[in-house]
Amino acid sequence: MTDFTMTTDADGVAVITWDVPNKSMNVLSLEGLAHLSDLIDQAHADEAVKGIVITSGKDTFAGGMDLNVIAKMKESAGDDPAKGLFEGTMQMHAILRKIELAGMDPKTQKGGKPTAAALPGTALGIGLELPLSTHRIFAADNPKAKIGLPEILVGIFPGAGGTTRLSRKLGAMAASPLLLEGKLNDPKKAKAAGVIDEVVPAEDLLAAAKAWVLDAKDADLVKPWDQKGFKIPGGTPYHPAGFMTYVGASAMVNGKTQGVYPAAKAMLSAVYEGAMVPFDTALKIEARWFTNVLMNPSSGAMIRSLFINKEALEKGANRPKVEDQKVKKLGVIGAGMMGAGITLVSAQAGMEVVLIDATQEAADRGKAYTEKYMDAGIAKRKATPEKKEQVLSLITATTDYAALSGCDLIIEAVFEDPTVKADVTAKVEAAVGEDCIFASNTSTLPISMLAKASTRPEQFIGIHFFSPVEKMMLVEIIKGKATGERAVAKALDYVRQIRKTPIVVNDARFFYANRCIIPYINEGIRMVAEGVEPALIENAAKLVGMPLGPLQLVDETSIDLGVKIAKATKAAMGDAYPDGAVDEVLFWMADEGRLGRKSAAGFYAYDEKGKRQGLWDGLAAKYPVADEQPDLHTVQHRLLFAQVLEAVRALEEGVLEDIREGDVGAILGWGFAPWSGGPFSWLDIIGTPYAAEVCDQLTEAYGDRFACPALLREMADKGQEFYNRFAAEQAA
Ligand code: NAD
Repeated sequence: MTDFTMTTDADGVAVITWDVPNKSMNVLSLEGLAHLSDLIDQAHADEAVKGIVITSGKDTFAGGMDLNVIAKMKESAGDDPAKGLFEGTMQMHAILRKIELAGMDPKTQKGGKPTAAALPGTALGIGLELPLSTHRIFAADNPKAKIGLPEILVGIFPGAGGTTRLSRKLGAMAASPLLLEGKLNDPKKAKAAGVIDEVVPAEDLLAAAKAWVLDAKDADLVKPWDQKGFKIPGGTPYHPAGFMTYVGASAMVNGKTQGVYPAAKAMLSAVYEGAMVPFDTALKIEARWFTNVLMNPSSGAMIRSLFINKEALEKGANRPKVEDQKVKKLGVIGAGMMGAGITLVSAQAGMEVVLIDATQEAADRGKAYTEKYMDAGIAKRKATPEKKEQVLSLITATTDYAALSGCDLIIEAVFEDPTVKADVTAKVEAAVGEDCIFASNTSTLPISMLAKASTRPEQFIGIHFFSPVEKMMLVEIIKGKATGERAVAKALDYVRQIRKTPIVVNDARFFYANRCIIPYINEGIRMVAEGVEPALIENAAKLVGMPLGPLQLVDETSIDLGVKIAKATKAAMGDAYPDGAVDEVLFWMADEGRLGRKSAAGFYAYDEKGKRQGLWDGLAAKYPVADEQPDLHTVQHRLLFAQVLEAVRALEEGVLEDIREGDVGAILGWGFAPWSGGPFSWLDIIGTPYAAEVCDQLTEAYGDRFACPALLREMADKGQEFYNRFAAEQAA
């Protein structure tokens, strides 16, 4: 069985059908590409063939390049990986260019064989770059189909001619949301944007493409950029209009990426430099920049964490081997902010949900959250009134625990108070069947401690969501000491149903994500107390790829929550508590009534509408800015090491069992510099010996919280990388 097959019909149209065996979606492998090339050669050489239609045997066209192949391309490129990558990319260009030039006479531009693409559904990445090399793109009128070039989202850019072709087809300005943001469109919008040519009813797709091929004239096969006097829409960089576009695009890319994502900059360079030279030279430039990006460790790390490992975790890489635990009926206790969000995403996934609160009014309010959310979706045309009714009909809001009968999973999201939670646990267990799994959404209380209130601790687990539930992709699953395998499988199957990404960790203070994010916030606040310029702290964080600076982050999560956590931690740790200097600032802010965004006053100032303005200038009166300021690099090291050392300790202590979860969880859970691939990937990029050296410097200058963990020290001494050492351990 091969990925592509070709049959020629009585009219002389060769139909090449892409249908990768045993995959739900087509992805392009290097072997597949070589085979496609052979089929094109055959069709061009065969006198009986008048033209070609490339289509798919599935209900989608293609999901793109097999990213596993890209990840391996570098390794398989021999001693000179850059050369190997460049040559491999140029081979890809040659094949697509062959389709585009259609075997025509290069002088007269006549006698070529037309090729059309017929897309039954979704066409992404090279699944669109291939059609862009044909002479006409047809798509079935399938509103669920997504068409676009999402490469930028995993740290690369369209490197099979998509960047060059789209920017020439649409002009740099119109192509920029598609290239720089990876924006996807349904077929009608893709046609309106000029990306594809025709949208036809699904049943007419092949016939329409064939008819066009049989009808096409020589002139239809010559792409605008192969015609004499071609001008790029919107102008080249030295044209007055083009000049404005490129200056603006450059500023926008640097503003959005803070200069830390190599792919966006490289793509813009490919477009800019390519715009000033003939098409084939532009492809070569694109290939060089593509090689440059693939050689940058950031792209490999991003692909590994955001694509390969994220998907592996979603598919149950760490799921115990017990039978299917899909949830049919879910009970949610506590209809506050979290309970309401959990109810929404679960009902959207088709589960029956019983939502319980202490009063009917509170339960109803929780259900109304789903109603409001669906109404907003209808206003944005993302949902229909029927869908809203269907989702709402799945939710029962009540105070009656008897309604929980038949539930196979309960998630409690009541107040963060062990007594309240224990009371709820007992009430639930009296109402549900023996097999029901009970989960707590606690963010700070140990699962093993809460499980003491349960008569079935092996069925007790933590399912920790992040706020807002409907937006945040990560769910942290926490195993208590007694938690059994079926509970873990249940939690994982549930997370899969609601289409989020799970990590499974062991029970310890703050689990994994909060454990790493709190020291980041604390380090920022500590610097305020030391007199470091607050703008330096915030910008240093953003310039290293953190989505929010530590001071903005604590404003968002609220300063009184910080105070609450600090008090509880201090009570638990006693004399060993290390964050007194932080508390001084935090408690003072709380006393001043500056609780963050919710009180429209925090480390930042806000206007009457609650919109964030600049940093609050009153801070300097209490914590004057020191005359001497640390350099940017030092501030960045403090902020990043505060997080990554906690991640290493979590691994060392067995809270984390898999570094893939540590990296994916960090990016999805708290936005840890995504360009780095996560804390462990980042340590591999800078090298463990250098990381240990920085620990020593920071420890000497700022204290023991930066002490190099024994595991990191050992790895530094041996020159080891996390992904080598732990991938090998896992394989063993
Ligand atoms: P919330 O105060 O908004 O909601 C709690 C709800 O529980 C309220 O509606 C309350 O009436 C109800 N409740 C209290 N006692 C009850 C009882 N005995 N029986 C039935 N209902 C009861 O709180 P929240 O922010 O939704 O947090 C809930 C839980 O989720 C906490 O354990 C919290 O630590 C955890 N959590 C919160 C966040 C967050 O960002 N807010 C994130 C992750 C986890």
